[in-house]
This record gives sequence, structure tokens and C-alpha cells, in this order.
Amino acid sequence: MPTAYLLLGSNLGDRVSQLGFAVEQLAGTGHVVAVSGLYETAAWGLEDQPPFLNQAVQLETTLLPEQLLDACQQVETQAQRRRDLRWGPRTLDVDILLYDNLIIDTLRLQVPHPRLPERRFALVPLAELAASAVHPGSMKTVAELLAGCPDTLEVVRIENQ
Ligand code: AMP
Repeated sequence: MPTAYLLLGSNLGDRVSQLGFAVEQLAGTGHVVAVSGLYETAAWGLEDQPPFLNQAVQLETTLLPEQLLDACQQVETQAQRRRDLRWGPRTLDVDILLYDNLIIDTLRLQVPHPRLPERRFALVPLAELAASAVHPGSMKTVAELLAGCPDTLEVVRIENQ
């Protein structure tokens, strides 16, 4: 079965609960093989935002890449709906970082995620699950990308609550 690596991110409301919700929902789209720890990073770009919590997920799935993107976007939408009903503002992002060794470049979907090599907050959790996975764009391993990553934002592992 194809293996995809996803990155979850949340920076509003109950971030841990949001990420847990995303993992539960993704489990319905395939087999969640592993999840990384939770990592906190200051918001990238815009600094007047709360810090992000990120987590990488290894998912075996029969969904094709575009179908997986649909599923990721559905989880984001469900999280927003849940927000309206219950616990105040929050956001949830679900990005596809890698899908097997495929390179995809359509209007809707780019895989590997185009900003992966320059984002420490994505590489650190991904390296926890797949340090030796090869990034098919650069043919470097995830560990090599992390070693060469120019991003200086600190990524701090949070003890799991
Ligand atoms: P964002 O607002 O950062 O969550 O970006 C969402 C948009 O990025 C959507 O319109 C997607 O079609 C597009 N997109 C392109 N490549 C990817 C990817 N690898 N993972 C998730 N979204 C992607």
C-alpha cells in the first residue's frame, strides 16, 4: 500500500485536541502507522499569531494523492465545523509532505510539499518518523534536508499531555 507522510498543524484553541481529532479522522482513510511527538514553533512569517503545534503522521492508504488531498481538506473542514459548535476559535492544517516517491505538480497539489526543505517545523517531526526517507525532488534524505535547513526558528518537542 502507498505510504504518505502528512503534517498536522494547529495554532488556535485546544491545539492538542485538534491534532488528536485529525489523527482519528485520518485513521478512517487508511492505516496510521506512526505519529511523531508534538512540536511547538513560533508562527512562521506573521509573528503576531500564537505558536503552532505540529505533528507528522505516517499513513498507509489506498487513496490516490488527489483523493488523499480531498480527505485532508475534509478533516480541516470538519475541524472548523466542530469549532463553531464547541470550543471557540482554532485552526487545523493538514498538508501532504510526501507520497511514496512520487513527484506531483498540478494546480491543486504539489508533492513533495514545495516548502518542506525550508521549514524546520515540518522536517523535525518528519525526521522522527522517516529520517532516511528520500525526498524525490532533491534526492536527499530527510535527515540531510534537516541538516541543511536554513530556517532558524526553534522547534521544541512538547512532553505529551
Ligand atoms: P494552506 O492554506 O497552506 O493549507 O494551503 C491549501 C492549498 O494548498 C490548497 O488549495 C491545496 O490545493 C494546496 N496544496 C498544494 N499542494 C499541497 C500539499 N502537498 N498538501 C496540502 N495542500 C496542498
